[in-house]
Amino acid sequence: TAAAVEELVTPPVQVNYTKLLINGQFVDSASGKTFPTLDPRTGEVIANVAEGDLEDVNRAVAAARKAFDEGPWPKMSAYERSRIMLKFADLVEKHNDEIAALETWDNGKPYLQAAQAEVPSFVRLFRYYAGWADKIHGLTVPADGPHHVQTLHEPIGVAGQIIPWNFPLLMMAWKVGPALACGNTIVLKTAEQTPLTALYVANLFHEAGLPPGVLNIVSGFGPTAGAALASHMDVDKLAFTGSTETGQTVLQLAAKSNLKPVTLELGGKSPFIICEDADIDHAVELAHFALFFNQGQCCCAGSRTYVHERVYDEFVEKAKARAMRRVVGDPFKKGVEQGPQIDSEQFKKILRYIREGRDSSATLECGGDRIGSKGYFIQPTVFSNVKEDMSIAQDEIFGPVQCVFKFKDIGEVIKRANNTRYGLAAGVFTKNIDTANTLTRGLRAGTVWINCYDIFDAGIPFGGYKMSGMGREKGIYSLNNYLQVKAVVTPLKNP
Ligand code: ADP
Repeated sequence: TAAAVEELVTPPVQVNYTKLLINGQFVDSASGKTFPTLDPRTGEVIANVAEGDLEDVNRAVAAARKAFDEGPWPKMSAYERSRIMLKFADLVEKHNDEIAALETWDNGKPYLQAAQAEVPSFVRLFRYYAGWADKIHGLTVPADGPHHVQTLHEPIGVAGQIIPWNFPLLMMAWKVGPALACGNTIVLKTAEQTPLTALYVANLFHEAGLPPGVLNIVSGFGPTAGAALASHMDVDKLAFTGSTETGQTVLQLAAKSNLKPVTLELGGKSPFIICEDADIDHAVELAHFALFFNQGQCCCAGSRTYVHERVYDEFVEKAKARAMRRVVGDPFKKGVEQGPQIDSEQFKKILRYIREGRDSSATLECGGDRIGSKGYFIQPTVFSNVKEDMSIAQDEIFGPVQCVFKFKDIGEVIKRANNTRYGLAAGVFTKNIDTANTLTRGLRAGTVWINCYDIFDAGIPFGGYKMSGMGREKGIYSLNNYLQVKAVVTPLKNP
């Protein structure tokens, strides 16, 4: 409730880095153009940021190429690379609160979430991958005939990385961490909504000893800077996180240019399945978290809540009550669980889906409107009686809109849960180990969380089945995205 909300004391935060980062220098864009990044609480301008385009991408790729071909980074001992990454992690940790405040300002997420979870996870990711740097090695292969055969695991080269706005720092860590651990150089294209924190931490990376040109950052828009990176002939690998439609575009650009390998982490419409034996209060809380976390702006949001018919009525009643208690407001205030949506485009899109839900035969249990007249705040919204053919059941809404479905038995719910073009994640809530196993094996999704949701350790791989993506990030799985395997064969004179 509003009374529980107090002012938070956040560190003063200044925007010091708004230029492009190319070859270790903060520079203006070639065109001299800038674009505003907005505060989603008000829609007001936080700062004007250099707008990168084709020419800037060319310069950044040239710097990354030079740093790869001639620079010390890929040739440096893995131990030395690891130490720079660890030092960087220490510096980010030291500046935890300023970085979190900048993330909240640019993105609108609750400050405590940024300060207590996201910046620490960013640090953890870099420490995890720093640990991998000196443990990457090939094999000796027993071959037929008198040959000595070995594999060298080499860095792939210049990595192009395009990230979204929902977790600007974490998406950067998932991509930059493994690429650097393997000895690659990078051109990172941040999302146009949230360019600020990547630039801030990149400065700390250079303070930690990262050589110039190893990490280049081009702020700017997708169809210009993003497309230039995806289609660049001298980029050796592309990693993308964003919508499925844009994923299809960048995959085509990569194929049409130089066939660079691509990893894609795309949209989802993840089921969260509550079985009849579930502890309802716990299930309500977890399903609420699975959907509403980060203003509902998670690619793996549990956006289809399936509830067994025997517990359905009680669940809907309690899920509605929980959503109505959700505290929405200024993300810098203590006690606020939900800040504004990222921008006016997403805000309008979510309200359009809510309207479509209202016009369908689904029941609007609560919410359904904006809050206030300034910024992009939306009421926590719950629909019950949702049917699979409705647009709110099919499409990724990416907002605080929970859709509740009723089911009868496990076989049926597996079929319905899988009946989507997506396959990113799923949640299962049951005390019965057999039910859990049946669901785990039956669900076609890259992650299944049982009696939990959104657990994201550095070592746990993440990625999608079907149109939710290609490949896996995090953990040991991400290393292969950034390595080439070279087979080396030598005849044995005296076998
Ligand atoms: P969202 O709808 O969540 O903003 P997008 O997939 O459009 O998702 O954006 C994710 C990232 O992809 C952003 O950095 C964006 O600038 C970039 N992007 C958008 N369109 C293109 C494109 N045509 N080519 C390359 N990158 C793009």
